[in-house]
Amino acid sequence: MHIEEHVPLATLTTFGIGGPARYFIWATSLDELREGLRFADERQLPFFVLGGGSNVLIDDRGFGGVVIHIAIEGIQYEVAGSHTTVIVGAGESWDGLVSEVVDKELWGIENLSGVPGTVGGAVVGNIGAYGQVQSQTLQWVEVLNTKNNVIECIENTQCQFGYRESIFTHDAGTYIVVRAAYALSHEAKPELSYADLQKTFADQANPSLLSIREAVLHIREGKFPDLLQEGSAGSFFKNPIVSKEEAAVLRERYPDMPQFSMPETAGVKIPLGWLIDHVLHLKGYSEDGARLFEKQALVIAAKRGTSANAVRALANTVREKIFSACGIAIEHEVKIIS
Ligand code: NAP
Repeated sequence: MHIEEHVPLATLTTFGIGGPARYFIWATSLDELREGLRFADERQLPFFVLGGGSNVLIDDRGFGGVVIHIAIEGIQYEVAGSHTTVIVGAGESWDGLVSEVVDKELWGIENLSGVPGTVGGAVVGNIGAYGQVQSQTLQWVEVLNTKNNVIECIENTQCQFGYRESIFTHDAGTYIVVRAAYALSHEAKPELSYADLQKTFADQANPSLLSIREAVLHIREGKFPDLLQEGSAGSFFKNPIVSKEEAAVLRERYPDMPQFSMPETAGVKIPLGWLIDHVLHLKGYSEDGARLFEKQALVIAAKRGTSANAVRALANTVREKIFSACGIAIEHEVKIIS
C-alpha cells in the first residue's frame, strides 16, 4: 500500500476545487483497501472514498483524514443465454466500460455514455441519463462492509436504489463498492424516449448501439461545461420528486413546465433547471466565479480559482429562492466533503 501526505485534491476532481488530503492512499486491491481502512482506524481518523472525483465538492481547507482512492480494475465477461454478465472493478472508468460493452454489442447502458467517474461512483449515485439508469441492469454489488471488515454480495433488490440514491448513499461510510455485475442483453433494445434522442433518430427505426453512444456523447458535449476551460460536477442538484397533489398545484401556476411521472415512486419529477430558468430567471447568474450554467441551470460551472465556499453560497442562494418561490426543498446531488 502506498501512502502519501498532504496531497492536493483539486486536480483529482472535475470541479478543480478544494484543499489537500492529510493522507492519500491508492487501493488497487481488496487487501490494499483493508490496509487503508486499518491505517485510518489506528489513527482514529475519518476516511473518505474517492472514485473519479466527478460528483464531489471538496472544502477549501481540504480533508483532515484519509482519502482512499479506489483503483480496483478488471472487466470479466460471462455469457449466460440471452445476456452476458459483465463483472467490473469499482475503479474502472464508467465510460470506458460503456465503450467496451458497446464494442461487444451488449445492450443496456449505452445511454449512460459520457457519464464521468468510476463504476463504484455510478453504483453509489445510481447514475441515470436519457432514460436509462444503472440499476436497471445491475445484478449484484460486491462490497467491503467497513463495520465488520467482511466482504458481502448485495443483490440489486437489496440496494435500495432510488432516484440518484442507494443503500450506499443512505448508509454512507458503511459499504465500499469493490466490484459490480451487470446483465447486458444480446438483443437490441434501443431506449429513445428522451426528446433529444427521439429527434436524432426520428428517421431511423433500428439505430445501432454505436450510433446511440455517439449521439449521446454528441448531445452531452453541447450541454455541459468544457472541463478543460472550467470546473463542474454536472448537475449540482437533484430534480425534486413531489407528490401528485403538489405537482397539480405547480401545473396550475406554471402550465408550460414539463413534469414527468415516476411510476416506481408514485411521485412526479420536476425539472429543476426549468424552475431556475423560468421562475427564478437565474440561468447564467454568477457569484464569485461560480455560475449557473447557461445551457443547463441545474449545473454549476466554476471558473479556475473559484472557492468551494463560493459554490456553496451559490447553491444556498438557489435553494432559498426555490423554497420561497415554489415551496420545494431541493437536495444536492453533489457530495460535499469537508
Ligand atoms: P433535459 O432533456 O433538458 O430535461 C430536463 C430534465 O427533465 C432532466 O433532468 C430529466 O430528468 C427530465 N426529463 C427529460 N425528458 C424526460 C423523459 N422523457 N422522461 C423522464 N424525465 C425526463 O435534460 P438534460 O440536462 O439535457 O439532461 C439529459 C439527461 O442527461 C438527463 O437524464 C440527465 O439526468 C442526464 N445528465 C445528468 C448529469 C449529472 O450530472 N447527473 C449530467 C449530464 C446529463 P433526469 O435527470 O431524471 O433524466
